[in-house]
Amino acid sequence: MKNNITRFCFPTTAREAAGLMARLGPRAVTVAGGTRHTRTISPTVETVVDVSDLPLKHIKADKAGLRIGALCTIDSLEKSPLLARWAGGVIARTAGMGSNALARVMGTVGGNVVRPHPYNNLPAVFLALGAQAVFTDGKREKTMPFAEMLAGQNMLLFGHKHLLTEVRVPAATKSWAACAERLSLTKSSWGSYAQVVVALDLKGGVIRKAAIAVSAVLPKAARMTKAEWVLEGRPANEEAAREASAEVVEELDRMTAGSASRAYGRHTAGVLTRRALMEAFGSRP
Ligand SMILES: Cc1cc2nc3c(=O)[nH]c(=O)nc-3n(C[C@H](O)[C@H](O)[C@H](O)COP(=O)(O)OP(=O)(O)OC[C@H]3O[C@@H](n4cnc5c(N)ncnc54)[C@H](O)[C@@H]3O)c2cc1C
Repeated sequence: MKNNITRFCFPTTAREAAGLMARLGPRAVTVAGGTRHTRTISPTVETVVDVSDLPLKHIKADKAGLRIGALCTIDSLEKSPLLARWAGGVIARTAGMGSNALARVMGTVGGNVVRPHPYNNLPAVFLALGAQAVFTDGKREKTMPFAEMLAGQNMLLFGHKHLLTEVRVPAATKSWAACAERLSLTKSSWGSYAQVVVALDLKGGVIRKAAIAVSAVLPKAARMTKAEWVLEGRPANEEAAREASAEVVEELDRMTAGSASRAYGRHTAGVLTRRALMEAFGSRP
């Protein structure tokens, strides 16, 4: 592939990397695992800012919750003993759903969530767990809800002016019941993917809080708030799961304006919601 790259930079801190991004603008490209760059480098780019060696590969927990470094590979999430114990292991399970072993070993959390294809796995799980995105603009560290990062204009700043450094998941979710489901016709049949992540705060068999995130069927992962309301305050049983899954299909119908090409995805997301809820209900008394 022809390109105009003449320089590679290897910053040693996140601040330095974001400073380079801000200074060089469209003349630079930021590369983490590099799995999305193979065919997409613009001819304006002269400098590669290689962030792959920044010390952002941690997966740890403190009082506030989980802290996942933006440069963790997807494979390291799948294999993390800490994540296997968090919210029923839903982050590890979701990471393991990636279609391609090489992309899981090379691809990073940051690259997966800041430039997500609709079928990328991780945005939905972080949305369902109410995560926060931590980033730097080269001057100071800032935090915003993960959902806000995914929304509209914000997203365009990541990779250009903002470097994502960490994803934080609230401590309360550690004991939540959660489950992720994903289905497609074949592993590389992208158009047919549907993915659902459910995360529930259950006590004594009653759903105190519910989060349902759907991806692949929509251009961006999104929470299904109406279906979540259907669940909250109710016993965790099959009737609740059926009603919530019907609401997910209706919500998706509205969000996709009844598009015929999305009918399979909407139907599949409904089935996966019911299945994920039943599995999550079964994982807690
Ligand atoms: C064959 C194949 C199959 C795949 N299958 C799946 C799948 O089934 N499920 C799935 O979820 N994904 C899948 N992927 C996508 C893959 O997971 C992503 O491409 C990967 O996570 C991107 O991470 P990266 O580190 O390689 O990003 P890069 O390619 O290095 O960067 C991607 C973009 O993100 C920006 N960026 C990277 N890190 C940061 C950061 N910390 N802060 C700000 N901006 C940043 C870069 O500037 C760039 O614009 C697949 C990819 C391939 C090639």
